[in-house]
Amino acid sequence: MFKQLSPAQLDPILSLSIAYREDSRTDKMDLGIGVYRNSQGETPIMQAVQTAQTALLAEQKTKAYVGLAGDEVFNQSMMDLLLSGTSAHGRAAAVQTPGASGALRMLADLMAIAQPETTVWLTDPSYVNHKPVMEAAGLKVRFYPYFDRQTKQVNSDAMLAEIAKAGPKDVVLLHGCCHNPTGADIRFEDWQAVTELANKNGFLPFVDIAYQGFGDGLAQDAAGLQHLADNVEEMIIATSCSKNFGLYRERTGAAIIVSDSLQEAQKAKGRILNLARATYTMPPDHGAAVVAKILQDEKLTQVWQQELNSMHQRLLNLRQGLVKAVNAQGSDAFDFIAKHKGMFSVTGLSPEQIARMREDFAIYAVADGRINIAGLQEQKLDYLANALVTVSQS
Ligand code: PMP
Repeated sequence: MFKQLSPAQLDPILSLSIAYREDSRTDKMDLGIGVYRNSQGETPIMQAVQTAQTALLAEQKTKAYVGLAGDEVFNQSMMDLLLSGTSAHGRAAAVQTPGASGALRMLADLMAIAQPETTVWLTDPSYVNHKPVMEAAGLKVRFYPYFDRQTKQVNSDAMLAEIAKAGPKDVVLLHGCCHNPTGADIRFEDWQAVTELANKNGFLPFVDIAYQGFGDGLAQDAAGLQHLADNVEEMIIATSCSKNFGLYRERTGAAIIVSDSLQEAQKAKGRILNLARATYTMPPDHGAAVVAKILQDEKLTQVWQQELNSMHQRLLNLRQGLVKAVNAQGSDAFDFIAKHKGMFSVTGLSPEQIARMREDFAIYAVADGRINIAGLQEQKLDYLANALVTVSQS
């Protein structure tokens, strides 16, 4: 049966990691895959996570199934984290999913059964998996203008002019904060404008928030999403604990549905549970149990917030440090990096220049020009700055 299959296409980011591993040069740098690394180049388990894990190990008495929706304490904690203080808090329902990836797929499947002719509008460019996931669920995809390749910022006018054309059969997907891959975020005024357009023209807003806490702080990063949630009848959210709890491999996320009533939100949740039953059935427990433990404990929550905050501060310092190092080489071509938010920046380097970074400097980045700022070490900023300036002038 399978011999007739053509070989799989290699995932560009994952295959980059393999090439990096096989590179024997000692000054090599991996700025490809989106993981946070500390100044020693490690991705440590966060302290609050360690404590929660130890407690869970001591307390846990069974490995019996939890249920289709996963851990309901976790689900409530995710809604609290994102929607507390908004009118949407009491008219939302959440399902624990295997990462935000699982949430994206479950929400896409839900849209496909509710309204098969849905078109999902994505930022140009967007997270590399948005299009494949939406299409795999049978939905149509189109892109709206977002990143201005000249200024390296969002072109809000072009974005809003295009979104103004979206109607009731459309879903507009927005990145909650720390846009992947560009690092360029929309302003609060843009969130307000999108909210007005959603109410006027009837499209469904869909927010994917995978980096809460890495942009301007936990509360600030949810401000746009909360404005939407407060002012629209219906919206959907995919959220992730991969980055802000450092739980990458534990596959921890949630799908949230906001509706005009709790009853409606719960009805949609019920349909997601049917869909989950027919795919993975139940999400893995460990990561969600850890998050629930942290967020239900004031002290642990504080420890987590402090650590997240120091990761966020370090990211800001790395961005500024890199720009300073580039400036010291006599170039201001990368000043925009200090204005970007979160883990990534799109550098504007061409695929050929990115290949030169790899060949001449052993610096691995994705061909679209994205670099993972969170993968940098302070002592390597000068080396990277020299590489950026050299290849950009070639
Ligand atoms: N959405 C965005 C915007 C992402 O960048 C990512 C990848 N980190 C995901 C979703 C998927 O995250 P997860 O690891 O939680 O599945």
